Amino acid sequence: MKNFVRAGNIVVSIVLMLACATAAMAGQWIQVVTSETGYELIKKAGSGSETFCQLGDVLIINSGDVFNDQILKTDPVNVMPVRPGEKLYLITTKDPAVFNMVFPGTRTVYRDMGFIVLLAGETAAMNLMSKQTDFTKVELLPENQVVLSRPLTTGITRIKSEDALAKFVDKLDMPAFMQDLTDLVNLKTRYSYVSQGQKAVDHCEEALKEMGYTTSQQPYNIGSSRTNNLIAEIRGSDEDKFGQVLIVGHLDSTSESPRTNAPGADDNGSGAAGVMALARLLHESGIKPAATVKFILFMGEEQGLYGSKAYVKALSATERPTIKAVFNLDMIGFDAVAPLSVMIETSSFNRPMVEKMQKLALDYADFTIHTSFNAWGSDHAPFLQAKIPAVLTIESEFSSNPNYHKTTDLVESINQDLCLQILRLNAAAMYAYAIDAGRLN
Ligand SMILES: [Zn+2]
Repeated sequence: MKNFVRAGNIVVSIVLMLACATAAMAGQWIQVVTSETGYELIKKAGSGSETFCQLGDVLIINSGDVFNDQILKTDPVNVMPVRPGEKLYLITTKDPAVFNMVFPGTRTVYRDMGFIVLLAGETAAMNLMSKQTDFTKVELLPENQVVLSRPLTTGITRIKSEDALAKFVDKLDMPAFMQDLTDLVNLKTRYSYVSQGQKAVDHCEEALKEMGYTTSQQPYNIGSSRTNNLIAEIRGSDEDKFGQVLIVGHLDSTSESPRTNAPGADDNGSGAAGVMALARLLHESGIKPAATVKFILFMGEEQGLYGSKAYVKALSATERPTIKAVFNLDMIGFDAVAPLSVMIETSSFNRPMVEKMQKLALDYADFTIHTSFNAWGSDHAPFLQAKIPAVLTIESEFSSNPNYHKTTDLVESINQDLCLQILRLNAAAMYAYAIDAGRLN
């Protein structure tokens, strides 16, 4: 009996040792492969234990040995072994400084369009987590999800020109847009903590009032400092049925010397002048919308989305569901590398709205569209957190804009063609949601 027990223990020990040895030998691998090849291979050779995350044209797959061997036989692929204790992290950032940062003790798997995927052990991960702000989100890489869709390309040849929507969009007044943008930049700064910031709010209020909109200012605090959001609205002919559509952007700016010199032409003179351009378009069309349309300029964005947070917080429980769509314009004027391209950003619950916008973009605008489902870092985020359908349109090259938050963010570097295409998309969306809401079905 005694011997048997001993023998049994030895057998158990050997089994355990073998199991440990196998566990130590079994590899875990990260493969970066084109999304097409990756999905195909998972379908064909996957064991069911692989996980993936799509970022545009790329699929990042986390797998064991067998699948890794399979995948190595196919396309040129980038393979990295996972070291003990390492996990995959995703950083989503609107801040070029963070985007270009080196994170000690980590290995970079992917870096493009404001997204970084890293392999990090526990200590390095703690450092990553400390980078989280209103502009930078840090999380474990989502499993089996599309974070960024494959790019969609539109084309001038297929753009509609004859229907009512096309005729509406064609009336966008770009010289007036450029004049508004120049006026905002000429204020020298629109920093939330100085009186020039309020001057910008008053300047825009005057212009929107002249267009016939009912305007108001919504006060709130940034720390101990008082500031105001600007709201201009036109009541819809059938608000009960069609609710409200919000066109928003932040008016404030910042730089290395924000109190005296923060021109903020791209960030976010372009989006603020864009909100004005859409207001002017609706006004000059003479059309009375079915939905109530509000044009909102936020302050305090650069300090942590204060304006949009205050706006969402002030919404009553009965008003929230009446907001059918929020269009946020933030940085719509930088495009240095052809072709023109935009990023449309939202959360996955709001996929139907983004799909409608993609369709409108194909019919009425001309650029490459990247769609992100990992919204973060601008004024659409507080709306999405309250489950209000919101979409950001932003230049897709924002993470390589050399003028970001600098005194060099001037009108001269604005790509007017990109502004026009992003405004065409938002104009089409405003038309579809507020004027001819039947188009959405
Ligand atoms: Zn901005």
